[in-house]
Amino acid sequence: MVARIVVAGGGIAGLGAALLLARQGYAVDLVERDGPPPENLEDVQEWRRPGAPQVRHPHMFLGLFRHLLHTRLPDVHADLLAHGVDEVDMTAPPGVEAPADATELASFGSRRATVEWVLHRALREQPGVRVHHGLSVREVVVEQGRVRGVRVDGAVIDADAVVDATGRRSPLVGAFTKEMEESPCGNVYHSRFYRLLDGVPKPPTFLVPVVFAGGAGFGGGLYAHDNRTFAVVFARLPEDETLGRLRETGAFEAAADAVAQFEPWLRPGHAEPIGDVVPMAGLTNSWRELTPETPSGYLPIGDVLCTTDPILGRGASFALAGAAELSDLMEQHGADLDAVSAGLRAHAERTIRPWYEDGVHDDVERTRSWRATVDGLPEPPAALPPAVLTALAGQQDHGLWERAQLRANLMASPDSLDTPEVRERLDAVLATGWEPPVLSPGPSYTELTDALAAHGG
Ligand SMILES: Cc1cc2nc3c(=O)[nH]c(=O)nc-3n(C[C@H](O)[C@H](O)[C@H](O)COP(=O)(O)OP(=O)(O)OC[C@H]3O[C@@H](n4cnc5c(N)ncnc54)[C@H](O)[C@@H]3O)c2cc1C
Repeated sequence: MVARIVVAGGGIAGLGAALLLARQGYAVDLVERDGPPPENLEDVQEWRRPGAPQVRHPHMFLGLFRHLLHTRLPDVHADLLAHGVDEVDMTAPPGVEAPADATELASFGSRRATVEWVLHRALREQPGVRVHHGLSVREVVVEQGRVRGVRVDGAVIDADAVVDATGRRSPLVGAFTKEMEESPCGNVYHSRFYRLLDGVPKPPTFLVPVVFAGGAGFGGGLYAHDNRTFAVVFARLPEDETLGRLRETGAFEAAADAVAQFEPWLRPGHAEPIGDVVPMAGLTNSWRELTPETPSGYLPIGDVLCTTDPILGRGASFALAGAAELSDLMEQHGADLDAVSAGLRAHAERTIRPWYEDGVHDDVERTRSWRATVDGLPEPPAALPPAVLTALAGQQDHGLWERAQLRANLMASPDSLDTPEVRERLDAVLATGWEPPVLSPGPSYTELTDALAAHGG
């Protein structure tokens, strides 16, 4: 019988799993190496999270994440909205009333720390959970092929099962890994958070979500987040040392000033920075297969199993989906941990693997195109990717809008637009003479590097 479960790691996957499992009646120990969140949300920006450095970068929470939160943890979802997170309804194009039978679809941008703060608040109220902060799991304790607990600094916590939610640099999974596929995402992030000053209207959530991804040679975006905060981010090729200067505050500011679309929010008197410019390098797409000898009761979820390019904004959804699937599998097979483990692997293969492959393909294409631009070999403008064309044509045919948004929000499969019906509807829109609107470009690569040089490069 399974009674006690250790959840190793308190990021998105671990916090979600700990809450769901405790609500099923398991005695849960959540072990997190970083310290606890601050008492007050106003102080969340100062929360130190070295165990999950991506917390200091912008996060979009796609429809799948919002759907899982709303349906599986409705109290947490409501609490998040009560604490300054605004959702965007995606069921119909802006200004159009959604059909009565449209699938519920919304997404939001928020500081990761705010989402975690709200999850921790729910955990504090939840009977059956002990949260251990500032403690690192060193090893999974195994006896006769079964998990018996975890070794933490100086002690053992007994358990019948261990959920490994320690993230992309899991210190635990290596012992059980058979194969690992890994490829570079092809970008380095440079981000900074700001807060709007009184009276300045919020930027729209989807103002500039990574608009320059095409042949620009770099990416950039401004993301509206919770409580009148927003983030500016640039992404560049890892080998591009000219844009490597984005790590300097002054150079970052000069680059942000070169983007006309950012000006209404960055102009003097409109916003103030609430943190430093922070980089994040070493980003990879990764996929793990476990050995057949993996002990019964070792249950990895989230980034431990698969990481994807942050530009695509998908990882948090997969982390919460893993927690939800684990909870369902424990409900069905609680006493048979091998069946739970097999179910988790099947879920990852069925629902995450196709997106992993989609992301790897996108990264290869984007890296090739960015390199051509950086090397001074601009290419003819590429045709719009079918998913983007379908979304834009959705302004004319709302059925196409719904299909495109379900896919973009991970609520339909990557190949879900590749059907005769979607192609026919798209052809019908194009046959009316409609042309996709020209998306307003950001600065060219030369304009951006000139702005950095003018700043003193
Ligand atoms: C720059 C960047 C931007 C991103 N932007 C987005 C986005 O916009 N949208 C999106 O959906 N996804 C985004 N992602 C991906 C997303 O952040 C991850 O997929 C998600 O955090 C995975 O959650 P997780 O719980 O599996 O791991 P994590 O969130 O990494 O959590 C792991 C936790 O385990 C703890 N830990 C580690 N080792 C130990 C140990 N030995 N003992 C105890 N605790 C330990 C860590 O401190 C951490 O709290 C981004 C990622 C990056 C890098």
